Amino acid sequence: MQVKNAGDEQTYACLVCGHAMFKMQACHLKCPNCGAEMDCSDKGFIW
Ligand SMILES: [Zn+2]
Repeated sequence: MQVKNAGDEQTYACLVCGHAMFKMQACHLKCPNCGAEMDCSDKGFIW
């Protein structure tokens, strides 16, 4: 589920649509494609 960018920033694939999600802030990701959001309460998926 973790994908490495060219830089050191880690990106994550959306669990819903597979699009690369971006980190809005620590422990808060949002998918720009489908709008799905994940945060630290989703432990077990990506954190
Ligand atoms: Zn998505």
